[in-house]
Amino acid sequence: MAKLLITGGAGYVGAVCARAARQAGHDVVVFDSLAGGHREAVSGELVVGDLRDRPALDAVLARGFDAVLHFAARMSVGESNEDPVGYFDVNVGGTLTLLEVMRAHGCKVLVFSSTCAIYGRPARVPLDEDLPHAPISPYGETKAVVERILALARPANDMRVTCLRYFNAAGAASDGSLGESHFPETHLIPLALEAAATGRPMTVFGTEHPTPDGTCVRDYVHVEDLADAHLRALDRMLAGHPGGAWNLGTAHGASVFEVMDTIERVTGHRVARTLGPARDGDPPMLVANASRAYADLGWRATRNLETVIRDAWGWYQSPRYGKR
Ligand code: UDP
Repeated sequence: MAKLLITGGAGYVGAVCARAARQAGHDVVVFDSLAGGHREAVSGELVVGDLRDRPALDAVLARGFDAVLHFAARMSVGESNEDPVGYFDVNVGGTLTLLEVMRAHGCKVLVFSSTCAIYGRPARVPLDEDLPHAPISPYGETKAVVERILALARPANDMRVTCLRYFNAAGAASDGSLGESHFPETHLIPLALEAAATGRPMTVFGTEHPTPDGTCVRDYVHVEDLADAHLRALDRMLAGHPGGAWNLGTAHGASVFEVMDTIERVTGHRVARTLGPARDGDPPMLVANASRAYADLGWRATRNLETVIRDAWGWYQSPRYGKR
């Protein structure tokens, strides 16, 4: 049992992870600005604050924590193209403040939410951890920069650090009580569920990609599987291991059409669609080679696309969905 500070613990992945950490017996405090997160997603103690507010972070970390799980970040690729400086300010600047305050209070264990976006357009698929970091969006840049900073800070600050590189985080808590609510929503699965529920068409971004059916292929990994990986990475560091970096995906790709077909099967509703042009900066195929996470952490995704969609549909239909 450890005392954990969870930044961004009111957000999508952070809230599911915070709950899993509590269920595993850890003592959890969530620190979240509520800029993108949701108060009602937090089951334990919530401290409302911004990462860039050093006195606020200082006051929290002064309470003494064994480790920080750092989810807080801005996370939309499209938005990052519009506001790169704002993305660096929160994602990089906020993390720098966090690292300084952690150092001041002797907190030396960190799990960082990274992303496969750091690989940009990868030279090979499936993606392993040895691919070069070559992000193609400001969002991906911010995460790659933080990974670089962490690689330097780890020895200098005598830290243990784990970077978990998520593929497409998806699904929801299996009891329908927690899931993703982004405003505005840009992600495929929630938009396609909306199309299924309302009958309104959604747009497929490109049908001439170099993939089997011409639509982009992604690796949708269940948010509860991600939470499990965080707890494993944390336990390993608390037991003295220095940490590392791991890709978290299912190793199975699904095209946009396959996702829509699965949604039709699971919900029993048609997903009406318009075929549109490709979205700028969308790599055709991103699928994880997750064998290192299995070898080192004993982690593998246990929930498939059907489960991802069934749980996301349960969340979509819950009265809490879409509440701010
Ligand atoms: N996508 C789409 N229509 C939409 C939203 C997304 O066709 O309205 C596609 C997008 O091009 C990508 C896939 O669905 O190939 C997953 O997109 P999402 O934004 O969910 O995640 P990303 O892979 O961009 O992180």
